[in-house]
Amino acid sequence: PRSNTPQPRSNIGDIPPYVAGKPPTVRPGMTSYKLSSNENPYPPLPGVVEAAQAAVGQMNRYPDMGATALYAALGERFGVPVGDLSVATGSVGLIYQLVQAFCDPGDEVVFAWRSFEAYPIAITAAGAASVRVPVLADGRHDLDAMVDAITDRTKVVLVCTPNNPTGPSVTQTELDAFLARVPSHVLVVVDEAYVEFVRMDDAVDGIATYRAHENVVLTRTFSKAYGLAGFRVGYAVAPAPIAAALRAVSLPFGVSTVAQAAAIASLESEAALLERVDALVAERSRVVAGLRAAGWDVPDAQGNFVWFELGDRTADFAAAADELGIVVRPFAGEGARVSIGETEANDRLLQLAGAFARS
Ligand code: PMP
Repeated sequence: PRSNTPQPRSNIGDIPPYVAGKPPTVRPGMTSYKLSSNENPYPPLPGVVEAAQAAVGQMNRYPDMGATALYAALGERFGVPVGDLSVATGSVGLIYQLVQAFCDPGDEVVFAWRSFEAYPIAITAAGAASVRVPVLADGRHDLDAMVDAITDRTKVVLVCTPNNPTGPSVTQTELDAFLARVPSHVLVVVDEAYVEFVRMDDAVDGIATYRAHENVVLTRTFSKAYGLAGFRVGYAVAPAPIAAALRAVSLPFGVSTVAQAAAIASLESEAALLERVDALVAERSRVVAGLRAAGWDVPDAQGNFVWFELGDRTADFAAAADELGIVVRPFAGEGARVSIGETEANDRLLQLAGAFARS
């Protein structure tokens, strides 16, 4: 690089790219389905659309920077003080803020790998260091190894549950044992982006857990269960000093007026939205059972997606999916993550998995 031009910080070149899920391939005479970004396949509820449309007329004005009505609605919904909340531009915005607020350059952030690909991006962008702890063979977090990876430089540990892209969740018993071993000055982020899809014994009660620990923050999102991925709204639940630090570093006006309105309307329509989540969970059960019947050893799936460990067959699997009109999310040389989508899309996945297992 020419030294007489402006140079970004030396580690900016180390930031891994974020690979967004591909859109469906357009093929004449064939509907294609996007199963590559863990989105909600249902169209928005009319009431949510109306609320967003009503807010469109205020686009010449800045949003309510304090997002007062959204904070109040979240506080009421989860029975937490508004001072324990922080809203952001998606929960990925919260991950950025957490690392920025808690890490000095060179500080370490421990997380499972493979997990959400934005973690190392946010960590490197903040000048902090990523410490990746391999997931177990069944895709679960190796929580003991994660505790063992904590050093004097560790400021944050990220627990992604359910884990994107492998699928399993930690149990409350496992999380409690883990928290008992993590030093109290280390912040534990429980990324619950898919929490509404969890159906298991001994499931984590995030709110009870944050109440019991001064170093626990939950991150959640309207993108998945509530179907607002395009509007970018996430929220953190944390002890007041942590929530205040997140709000302090937040992007001013980061959550738009339409996004705030749609999120509030979604909370008001929560029963209808959670019925859809139930339907997606039923589809997930059908898909996982079908895959296992076809001989696939897929990990427990607690989110709205299924993980296929494929190694060097990953690209072939993704190409075969594309031929059938479903777009999956390949991770080169590792595997593919496939979202639970429309019934027809899920049928095609089962068709693909049946054919591919035999090929
Ligand atoms: N956490 C996890 C584990 C995710 O998979 C995602 C989305 N892929 C996010 C956070 C971020 O979602 P959003 O920014 O849309 O809230």
